[in-house]
Parts: sequence; C-alpha cells; structure tokens
Amino acid sequence: MILNKTIEQWQNEFPQLGDMMEYRETLWLNDNQAAADSVLPELILSEDDILSAEARLKRFAPYIAHVFPETADSAGIIESPLTELTRIQESFKEIVGKKINGSFYLKEDNKLPISGSVKARGGIYEVLAFAESLALAAGLITEDDDYKKFAGPDFKNHFSQYSLVCGSTGNLGLSIGIMGAELGFKVLIHMSDDAKQWKKDMLRSKGVTVVEHSDDYSKAVEQGRADSLKDAKSYFIDDENSKTLFLGYAVAAIRLKAQLQEQNIAVDKNHPLNVYLPCGVGGGPGGIAFGLKVVFGDNVNCYFAEPTHSPCMTLGMMTDYHDKISVQDFGIDNVTAADGLAVGRASGFVGQLLAKLISGSYTVSDENLFKMLAVMYDEENIKLEPSSLAGVIGPAATHSKGTHLAWSTGGDMVPEEVYKEYYLKGKNLI
Ligand SMILES: *Cc1c(COP(=O)(O)O)cnc(C)c1O
Repeated sequence: MILNKTIEQWQNEFPQLGDMMEYRETLWLNDNQAAADSVLPELILSEDDILSAEARLKRFAPYIAHVFPETADSAGIIESPLTELTRIQESFKEIVGKKINGSFYLKEDNKLPISGSVKARGGIYEVLAFAESLALAAGLITEDDDYKKFAGPDFKNHFSQYSLVCGSTGNLGLSIGIMGAELGFKVLIHMSDDAKQWKKDMLRSKGVTVVEHSDDYSKAVEQGRADSLKDAKSYFIDDENSKTLFLGYAVAAIRLKAQLQEQNIAVDKNHPLNVYLPCGVGGGPGGIAFGLKVVFGDNVNCYFAEPTHSPCMTLGMMTDYHDKISVQDFGIDNVTAADGLAVGRASGFVGQLLAKLISGSYTVSDENLFKMLAVMYDEENIKLEPSSLAGVIGPAATHSKGTHLAWSTGGDMVPEEVYKEYYLKGKNLI
C-alpha cells in the first residue's frame, strides 16, 4: 500500500505508471495547464522577484569578473552560449527513429563559467545572496558600493566564521564549494557515496569538507539539514525548498530572451518555443521554466526530462502527490549514470508552483543518453555529461511543433578520461 492505495489502484488511476515501473520511456502531458497570465498572478513568486535576483547578480558582476578572470569577457555575468544544432539531425533520426521538424538549439549550460553546469546559476546566486546579507548586516558594504570589495581580507575574515552546508549528488556541491571557498566561507558538502569520485576530489582540493553517505541523496540532504540547524553560524542551502536558489535559475529566462533576439529567433504565437529541461529535484529546471513562462507566456512550452530510473518529477506531477511519494515507493530503483538527475523524490514546492504551467514531462533511458552523448560529440563537437543529454531527446519524446531548445546542463568540468569512457559507451551502443 502506498498512501492507502494498492499498486493496482495507482496503475488504474495513472495509466503511464505501469510503463514507468518497468523503466520504459514515458511521456506525460499536463491536462491542467492553463493560460500563463491567469496562473502567474496567483503564485508566491513574481516577475519582480526575478528582476531583483538579476539586479543582485549585476551588483556582484565586478567582483565575479575580478576573482574569476574567465568571466572578464562578459564583465562578470555568468552566462552560456545559445548554439544552433545543424548536423545532429541525421543521427538523431537513426537513434530515435524520428525526424526533427523545426530548428533545434542547445542552451549550453555545460559551458557556464566557474562550475560548468546549470548549478552555476542557482548555487552561486544563493551563496552571493547570503554573503551580501551578511556584509550588509555587518556594515561592510552598501548596495551602491563597488562589490569588488568582497575580495578584500576583511570580508573573507568575516565570512570565515560561517559555514555553508548542502546535500548534493555532485554539481550543486561544486558550485557552492567553489563560490563559497572563494568568498572565505567554510563549506561542508554531504554527498551520497556513489557520487562521482572526480567531483569529490575537486571539492577537497578547494578545501571543501566532503561527507560521504552510504544511503541515497535524500538521506544526505536530511543529514545536512539536521546538522546545520544546530549551529547558528551554519547556513543550509536547501535545494528542495530554497526560493533563492530557484530565483537564481529563473534569471536564465531574461538572458535567453536577449540571446534569441540577438540571433533573430522569433518566439510568438506562430513560432512557439519548446524547451526541454533535464530534471533532478526540480529547482534548476523548475526555476528556468518559471522564468520562461514569465517572459514568454503561452508562446513557450516547457517539458521536464528525466531518466527512466529516476522519474520523480514525472511521478509527482502526474499524480499531483509531488513530494508525498518517491520513485522507490513504486519499486523504481533511482540508479542512473545521469548523476545530476538521480533523485527519487521531487521538490514539492517546485511541482506545485508549476502544476498549471508545465506542458509535460518525459523519461529517457540511460542507453539513449549515452548514444546522444556520442553523436553530440561526433556531429556537433560538444562534450556533455550524461544528465545533460536528457533534454536533447525532447523533440522526439514530446512530438512538439515549433522551435526546439534543449537545455544542456553540464559537461565542462568532466575530466578527459571520464569523458572518454562515456563516449565509448555511447559508441558501443549505437
Ligand atoms: C542538478 C542538475 C540538473 C537538475 O537540476 P535539479 O535542480 O536537481 O532539478 C540537471 N543537470 C545537471 C547536470 C545537474 O547537475
């Protein structure tokens, strides 16, 4: 029994559940989607919240450019390229048996500076927001000052009294660890012991404490939250519930709008934009989807993309039970090479916020992730980590019409020898 219903009752109520329990690729379309302008005013977050997050990132831009020289070209704005895919179409057809109609773009968060994944949006933003609040409270800065000051010894000294804590399957830890250590914070990351070794090594090399847990990711997060609550100078970054993290991700929509305009890509009633977002706990893709609905309204359709072994958001949204149920409740094992998406229970906050905005959610097999990884390199010369490919299958998975945009969410930090293994695995499967 799960929440007083037998598996059979669940399956009768939700026809896709049987396929999901057998790890078959599944598409769920949202019957409850409603017009953006009727839904958005009812929500707990608004356009103003996104604009204020964007303004905070602008205040920090001179500091970011100063301490991370790789962002100097963009004047300290952490942003990724929007790339048109032109050669992958043929191989795509061979692998998934369907042609892509319409232009196909990749939003390359794999190339985000500083930490090489989508987490450089939310994770770094939340660390900056916390540092700013401490500096304002201590009278070290005003909002009109030059934020380059954050690099000074008095700031580092002040921040060194505080610790940042989070639970992470890998990439969130990298973003928070790199940014937190640079500002002078102590950083403690709880990880499941199956997290990628190179991610743990990289964090430790930056002076971050990594605690490994033999249980899964949710247990690691619980542990982090409990420890952090005991200590007033410890700040827990909660990727299931944090609105700050969510808003950091949402800023992506404003940036994407400018890039689409620059490249003369129309988004309107006659040219709908379909966006495919790899989804773990939901904060990253949910924040981006929320931002996109604010910016483009009903002219954008957003879909979550998950591994067949970790379909927590699909399960939560389809049933409307969100974080009340986990994939493990249904015998789904949450074992996938897509470590950024290996989450068994979705964020309830994100699922509920997007209940009437998201167009749907689909699942992809690990096999298809690896195949797409190999052709993405062969055809487009782009190196992605497995999680990052979940969106790429979107045009076939959803049968959408219009312009397609897959969000690639990570890849740049993967060591060469690890990438080679991924690539060969994909090649062997094709
Ligand atoms: C974390 C992550 C995601 C998904 O973000 P969530 O906030 O967990 O949903 C997608 N891709 C990669 C590479 C990630 O690291």
